Amino acid sequence: MRIVVLTGAGISAESGVPTFRGKGGLWRRYDPKDLATPEAFERDPKLVWEWYDWRRGLIAKAEPSEAHKILAKLEKEKDLWVITQNVDGLHQRAGSKRVVELHGNIWRVRCVSCGVRYYDHRVPLEEIPPRCKECGGLLRPDVVWFGEALPQEALERAYELSLSAEIFLAVGTSAQVYPAAELPLIAKRSGAKLVEINPEETPLTPHADVSIRTGASEGLRRFFYTIIDGEGD
Ligand code: NAD
Ligand code: ZN
Repeated sequence: MRIVVLTGAGISAESGVPTFRGKGGLWRRYDPKDLATPEAFERDPKLVWEWYDWRRGLIAKAEPSEAHKILAKLEKEKDLWVITQNVDGLHQRAGSKRVVELHGNIWRVRCVSCGVRYYDHRVPLEEIPPRCKECGGLLRPDVVWFGEALPQEALERAYELSLSAEIFLAVGTSAQVYPAAELPLIAKRSGAKLVEINPEETPLTPHADVSIRTGASEGLRRFFYTIIDGEGD
């Protein structure tokens, strides 16, 4: 039975990484939309990088949550795949291997001049904005900003997985960012049971076969160990 799990910032909220929307959402001094767009980067790359450097610092200190760990463990036992909107790499740190990153990765940089991509885990960065080690050009975070297209290969894989899902779990996503938000609906239309785990209602709620109105760790524990296996915990 194929299980596909779409995760959003809510699953990392339990690791202490702030979400964008919902309670406790990310709001420092600027609207994330003004910091996470190509226009913002063109206007002020230093400001955008300061914000990313700050977020990288938060993520570096965070540990995978129980929710990340449950998914990593179940991947070894079930035909389970994760599609994530998160850029923090916490699924991989928890041990998940079958992860499709729809919005890139905050630890990867990309050169706006020569296009090279590489991982750079330094926190804080020594130089802001950082420069390309190949050509000296300006680097940007290799993440998808508002208004940008998703990486084609990841998106195609996400569609394939959604179409082949028998159970589709949407965990900790506000389901407002497209095209990620349409994946649960695609899965549902092609016959999957749709399960939502989120402490708040979302636009997905009316389509869900089951809504578990709790945090990610509690919800996944309940779903996998009570509903699917009937084992309790
Ligand atoms: P979002 O910020 O729009 O929504 C977060 C959702 O998580 C809300 O619906 C909220 O109710 C829910 N939530 C809060 N606490 C939760 C918990 N303990 N358990 C389960 N759910 C909880 O996040 P999104 O839908 O992922 O979309 C935002 C975009 O921002 C994404 O594209 C993503 O790339 C980016 N983002 C990523 C990170 C990260 O990598 N950790 C953090 C913030 C934003
Ligand atoms: Zn370069």
